[in-house]
Amino acid sequence: MNQKTVKHSISCVGVGIHSGKFASLSLYPAPPDTGIIFIRTDVKNCNNRINAAYGHVSRTQLGTTIQNSANIEISTIEHLMAALWGHNIDNAIIEVDGPEIPIMDGSAEKFLFMLECVGVEIQDKPRKYIELLKELTVKDGDSLTKLYPADHLSIEAEISFDRDFLSSQKYKFSEKSSSFKHELARARTFGFKEDADMLKKHGFARGASLDNVIVISGKDILNRDGLRYPNEFVRHKLLDLIGDFYLAGATIKAHVEAFRPGHTINNKVLHTLFADKDNWRIAA
Ligand SMILES: [Zn+2]
Repeated sequence: MNQKTVKHSISCVGVGIHSGKFASLSLYPAPPDTGIIFIRTDVKNCNNRINAAYGHVSRTQLGTTIQNSANIEISTIEHLMAALWGHNIDNAIIEVDGPEIPIMDGSAEKFLFMLECVGVEIQDKPRKYIELLKELTVKDGDSLTKLYPADHLSIEAEISFDRDFLSSQKYKFSEKSSSFKHELARARTFGFKEDADMLKKHGFARGASLDNVIVISGKDILNRDGLRYPNEFVRHKLLDLIGDFYLAGATIKAHVEAFRPGHTINNKVLHTLFADKDNWRIAA
């Protein structure tokens, strides 16, 4: 399979879930071997390019933020990164005129729709993969992720919350036999009503609303139309994991078992993987 980019440019506008700031976002084609690059067009007179790479992750609290050497950040990139992975886009320039990627409806559906609308350009260089060469176990607090060598990416995720409504959910996804579009892309981010005031006080969730977050209150869902899938929560965590793992710069060929996955452990897995040259190799 060869590398791919978007055929033309395409734009959208939306609010950032944490900043509450509106931003417009445009996707542009990029040459082979560029990878995914974010450009903060609102930042002038200094380096405003931020490569989508695991080593540039600066924060993982309530979303994934990357930062360049001039300390310019772009946050909440994970759902867009997941959509790019889901549509096999290797190379793209993403211009944003604010500090946060718009949340849209809280899932990757709108980004995937944009990619489908604009079309894909097949490029003249082969796609690269990251082949896992040995088992890896990464722990972070109550979270645990294991990776096993495999010929394609598959993920089994389990979430576990100590809440009335949401205790445990499991889901399996395989790059070969599952549909990113139908199984993961529509799964929305979620939060607990009792956490909302505290988050807002600390500068988070300022753009959050029932239009972009599933809100759980006790044993109820506050969103009028309810859930898109009974296990939408674990599907969303799987979507986040895929977006975070795409900061490896290519698809990782591995079977992943993730217990209580989150942005912090997802990034820690990539740091652990690439810390030792014996763990991986580039494969075509
Ligand atoms: Zn998410």
